[in-house]
Amino acid sequence: MHILLVEDDPHIAEGLCAGLALSQCTVDHVDRAAAASHALSVGHFDAVILDLGLPDQDGIDWLRQLRADGNDLPVLILSARDSVSQRVAGLQAGADDYLLKPFDLRELTARLQTLLRRTSGRTTHLIQHAGLVVDPDLLTVTLHGSPVSLARREMMLLLAFLHNPKRILSAEQLQDALYGLGEGVESNAINVHIYNLRRKLGSGIIETVRGLGFRLGKPDESA
Ligand code: CA
Repeated sequence: MHILLVEDDPHIAEGLCAGLALSQCTVDHVDRAAAASHALSVGHFDAVILDLGLPDQDGIDWLRQLRADGNDLPVLILSARDSVSQRVAGLQAGADDYLLKPFDLRELTARLQTLLRRTSGRTTHLIQHAGLVVDPDLLTVTLHGSPVSLARREMMLLLAFLHNPKRILSAEQLQDALYGLGEGVESNAINVHIYNLRRKLGSGIIETVRGLGFRLGKPDESA
């Protein structure tokens, strides 16, 4: 899960980045509304965590503009504005969820997972695909009932495909999903992770679409 964190309080941001990394999230952090708009224009994200009191623009106005531009990315507002009318204003501006500061990291993570499930149209939290069952909360994978051990990046890569079951994902999009925008990445890193996923789940699990990227396929029947 690739999260854009828009938060100008450095202490909150630092804690969130560290905490979300433990939940296998890649987090890009910006502290201005303008920087958030720029990040969305260059990277692929699964959700936004949005503070409202930002130095260059109110988060509500930024969100309203985002929706007016037709962007339906899941947005969770994280704010100390605790009156009912403020929360209603946030939801009316287009937020999918609203969490009050101070917050519990576990609750935030659970709500993010719920948001992603809702937006990808699933009702149970287990992701099932052709004999493969993935629990995105516990980060466990079984194939035809047998547990499969995946490294962290392999799990993130698999989830990126499962969250976009019909899309062709380019190497750049996959890189964005696995690594932060500023992180240095070995040029063949994605290929190595795909090789490992195929080795563990069967060569058909990721299909190569020549010249375009990769697409979710089917795991081995008998693995
Ligand atoms: Ca703030």
